[in-house]
Amino acid sequence: MEEWIYENHDKAKALAEMGLCDHCLGRMFGKIGTGTTNVNRGLDIREALAEEGVDAPAAEFCPLCENVFELLDRFADAAVEAMDGIESDNFLIGTRVEPEIVQREKELWEQYGLEQAEPIKAELNREIGKLALPKMHRPVEFKNPQVVALVDTRFADVSIDIAPVFIAGRYNKFSREIPQTIWPCRVCHGKGCDHCHGKGKMYDTSVQEIIGDVALEMIGGTEHFFHGMGREDIDARMLGDGRPFVLEISSPRKRRIDLDELKRRSDNELAAFQDLHYVQREAVERYKEAAADKVYRVHVLAEGKVNKEAVIEVALSFKNANIDQRTPDVREGVRVRRRRTQHPELLGETRCAVQGRDPRRVGDQLSRTMRD
Ligand SMILES: [Zn+2]
Ligand SMILES: [Zn+2]
Repeated sequence: MEEWIYENHDKAKALAEMGLCDHCLGRMFGKIGTGTTNVNRGLDIREALAEEGVDAPAAEFCPLCENVFELLDRFADAAVEAMDGIESDNFLIGTRVEPEIVQREKELWEQYGLEQAEPIKAELNREIGKLALPKMHRPVEFKNPQVVALVDTRFADVSIDIAPVFIAGRYNKFSREIPQTIWPCRVCHGKGCDHCHGKGKMYDTSVQEIIGDVALEMIGGTEHFFHGMGREDIDARMLGDGRPFVLEISSPRKRRIDLDELKRRSDNELAAFQDLHYVQREAVERYKEAAADKVYRVHVLAEGKVNKEAVIEVALSFKNANIDQRTPDVREGVRVRRRRTQHPELLGETRCAVQGRDPRRVGDQLSRTMRD
């Protein structure tokens, strides 16, 4: 008789006589030793008992698990089927076990003082995972799985939880008429009503939708979210190097699409996207919190004659000045401008040039040098 069985003899005998199946019997001592399975632990117990003339076979219907382990193949097949067509580098299988079974198991642990027992969920996860693995064509990942197949053992249905994908880049916005993100209708909050002409939103499109809708189609996800490094007003363009952002696609069926194609299909006369690349979830907070240096260009048109020296003097006086920023805020559905007093911004360098009278020349200049 193996030592661990000898040491747990009376408990093991009582549990075997209850008619537990080999899985459940072995699992009551599942954390003892390695390199074996709960089934084999159960068989070893029954063999040891038989040697001393005790006949304690498994019951036809296991009083603990209700023979759930007979369905392992079915669970594994259901998980494999549910994962079909979902691209991922790894996976994990989880299970939802009938609460009564979990409760009964706990009562046995307490009744017999079983300190080395393994929970049924852990055994089911592992055994279904082992059976499914050869058909998944990808490794198991316990810490950060890209896809979790959750098997409900009561009905053998499987729900799939897919980690989002995150694509970072920088965008330019050439239009003064579209917002950065979707702006839901304040009356119907997206359902569609007379106020928004049934669109559910205040603007036909946004930087988010221009790239997000294409990405959603290419990736086969359910929703897109846009995390920009700061926001800008609708009527401000975003030129130059562009503003960093992260696009999040939930429940993606693909994780690797051609980002050059995404750019090609997204870029239009309203917005353009550069330097698209994949990032991890952690990048989102980094992008949102980062305080980027901004370059503003203010273009002032004056009527009549202007004293050039005086203008330059006034402009340069802004150097290193603190400015109060008023940031847009959506409160009670009304967009108001709110004074942001906690974080006055320090204006750094200021430059000034008087560009002459010809508005066309001014326009040319702007398009070459304007950034942010
Ligand atoms: Zn059982
Ligand atoms: Zn509406």
